[in-house]
Amino acid sequence: MRIVLLGAPGSGKGTQSQRLVERVHIPQISTGDLLRSAVARGTELGRLAREAMEGGRLVDDSLVLGMIRERVGEPDTRRGFILDGFPRNLAQAHALDHLLESLRRPLDAVVQLEVDYKELVRRLAGRRSCADCGRVFNLLTSPPGPDSTLCPKTGHPHRLVQRPDDNEATVAERLRVYDEKTRPLIDFYRARGLLQVIDAEGDVDAVTRRLAKALGEPALAKSPKKKAAAKKKAVAKKKPEARKTAAKAGRRKPAAKRTAAASVRKARAAAKVRHTARRAAAARRGKR
Ligand code: ADP
Repeated sequence: MRIVLLGAPGSGKGTQSQRLVERVHIPQISTGDLLRSAVARGTELGRLAREAMEGGRLVDDSLVLGMIRERVGEPDTRRGFILDGFPRNLAQAHALDHLLESLRRPLDAVVQLEVDYKELVRRLAGRRSCADCGRVFNLLTSPPGPDSTLCPKTGHPHRLVQRPDDNEATVAERLRVYDEKTRPLIDFYRARGLLQVIDAEGDVDAVTRRLAKALGEPALAKSPKKKAAAKKKAVAKKKPEARKTAAKAGRRKPAAKRTAAASVRKARAAAKVRHTARRAAAARRGKR
C-alpha cells in the first residue's frame, strides 16, 4: 500500500500516519520529521533547512527530493509506505510521479484530511511534544493526564515543549503557504483518480475509521489492542462450537450427552452387580 496523506498543518497527518503504521506495518515517511532530525543532528541538510522551517516556508525542493529518493529506496518500504507532508507543491508531486514510475511502484491512494481553518489554529496553538521521547500531546484535546504513561526514555513524566514553528506568526505563514502551494495538489490527484477526501474533525478514532473506509481497509479501523482482544474472544467462543462439530462428525459427544451416557453405564453396572448378588444369594439358599 503506497499512500499520500494530504492536509494542512495541524490536520492530523502525523497522528493518523502513526496509527496506520501500527496497524499495517508499513513505514511513515514524514519529511517534517526527517528535516527536524537533520536540524537536531546539525547535519549540512539541517543547516540548509533550518531557516525556512523556522519561518514557516517550504524547504528547497532539491533538498527534500534528495531525502525522499534515499528513503523510498530503503528495504522497509518494499511493502509500501505512508507519505506524510510530502509532496507539498506541484513540482514535488511531479517529481514523486517520475520517481515511483521509474521504480514501477505507483501510488495507490491519496487521502486529503479536511479540517476547518479555526480548528487548525486551535490545534497548533495547543500542540506540545515530549522533549525526550517525541510523543505528541495537545493541551486542549489530549493533555497528559495524571495517569498517563511515563516517558519511556526517562521513566519520568513527559517534559512538554512547543515546536519552534508552532508560534502564532509562523503558524499563520504555514497555513498561508499550504493554501498557496499545497492545496493545488487536491485537483492534481483528483484528476488522476487517486483522491479521497475525509472529514478529519472530531474524535481521533472516528477519523481513523473514516481513513480506513477511504482506503477500503475496514480492519485498519481497529486498534492493535482491540484486535487482539477480539481474536481472543472469537477463539473462546469457537470452542463449544468446535466440540459440537466434532460430535456431529462422530468423534466426540457434546459434554451433556457424555454425562447422560456415563450415568446410564453406571446405572447398568450397578443393576448388574445387584442382579449377580441376588443370584448368588438364591444359589446359597438352594444349597442349604
Ligand atoms: P506541518 O505539516 O505541521 O506544518 P511538518 O512537520 O510536516 O509540519 O513540517 C515542518 C516544516 O518542515 C514545514 O513548515 C517546512 O518548512 C518543512 N517541510 C516539511 N516537509 C516539506 C516538504 N515536503 N517540502 C518543503 N518543506 C517541507
